[in-house]
Amino acid sequence: MPCLRPALPRWLAPTLLACACATATAAPVWVSMDEAAYRVLQSQRLDHDATERHVVTAFTAERTARQDTLVILRADDDQLHRLSLAAHEALHRCGGFMVHESREDARRTVAALQQHAGGERLRALATVPSYVIDDNAQVNALLPQLQETQILSTISKLQSYSNRYYRNAVGAKASNDLAAGWALLAAGRSDASVSQFTHRNFPQKSVILNLRGSVAPDEIVVIGGHLDSISPNAVLSPTGKAPGADDDASGIATLQEVMRVLLQSGYQPARTLQFIGYAGEEAGLLGSKEIAQSYAAQGRNVVGALQLDMTAYPGGSSDITLISDYTNTAQDNFLAALASTYLPSARVVRDVCGYACSDHASWTAQGFAASFPFEAPLGQDNPHIHTPKDKPVKFGNSAAHAIQFARLALAYAVELGSDSGPAAR
Ligand SMILES: [Zn+2]
Repeated sequence: MPCLRPALPRWLAPTLLACACATATAAPVWVSMDEAAYRVLQSQRLDHDATERHVVTAFTAERTARQDTLVILRADDDQLHRLSLAAHEALHRCGGFMVHESREDARRTVAALQQHAGGERLRALATVPSYVIDDNAQVNALLPQLQETQILSTISKLQSYSNRYYRNAVGAKASNDLAAGWALLAAGRSDASVSQFTHRNFPQKSVILNLRGSVAPDEIVVIGGHLDSISPNAVLSPTGKAPGADDDASGIATLQEVMRVLLQSGYQPARTLQFIGYAGEEAGLLGSKEIAQSYAAQGRNVVGALQLDMTAYPGGSSDITLISDYTNTAQDNFLAALASTYLPSARVVRDVCGYACSDHASWTAQGFAASFPFEAPLGQDNPHIHTPKDKPVKFGNSAAHAIQFARLALAYAVELGSDSGPAAR
């Protein structure tokens, strides 16, 4: 999702206009975005109204507080595709917006971010775990079972759909196929089940594999990525090309490989582990927002959420870039400690990517601890995303970079999953 974007290719402009008219079914939606994204919206003269501003606290890579101005406005959803693409061009990062059911829903989200101090102050019912690393034997026994070939074959399967756009039949089929594949992986495990989360306003469903905890089944650890993809052509027609090999087939493939090893090794967590393929991320975090909101409304106890969005492109001077705005510091530090324990040669740095740059922001907005390890520092990441060129050849047809994120995610799942209850005071 968040990433670098070269100048818009000549073939794109007419497509943008074409896609604007193609989605004649456009409906006004309420959107929240940061000031930078709003400036892009204005520069593109995208129609909008009912603008209001709110200030929330976020954090920099150096963990100093940053005051972000968030803008709530109403715009036709076809304008948002244009915003999403233009924002990449101008800001070298993702569209950075969240779509809401109503103005009230947008205000609630912003108020929740203010209340939760951009991810630092968690909701009362969320268990704050001890981030002690004490499952070395189990983690070290499982890490060697992770296979690059498995990750690469999942990426090549997902990128073989013309696209996985959240609004069309192909995108819906990609979700159903993923659910069927996960059900096969869970076969034989009575403590594992697969379900699909049906969203209110679009056909693509999110997919959830639930591995029930044996000691504290109500304490949930989430590992997620988004299963949808986007490009101007995909917005235009179901045959439009949006392979999304890195964005975000790589994240889905990475978490699926962790899931495969845990299921097939017979690992039994104390807490419940949930692996989630979110729908509709590219259109404003639609799927993850609805899921995080429903978990909060049901009073569910999410102990931590990890986002895997783009893990395959070895773009930069580091191996793992911990995004630190709209995330939780304690859990980010835990991930850094897991990396130095289980990936000692990995170069880990911190960076920021702005408001709503991926699904972790949906959990943060509900007061749950969320983190987002990313493939490269912003500006050094995959420049081909959101185009027909986001294919495995752009990361050397190799999962060598992605498997590092599988190792980190497996260590996260086992070290958090094997404990239960709050940290000792
Ligand atoms: Zn993405």
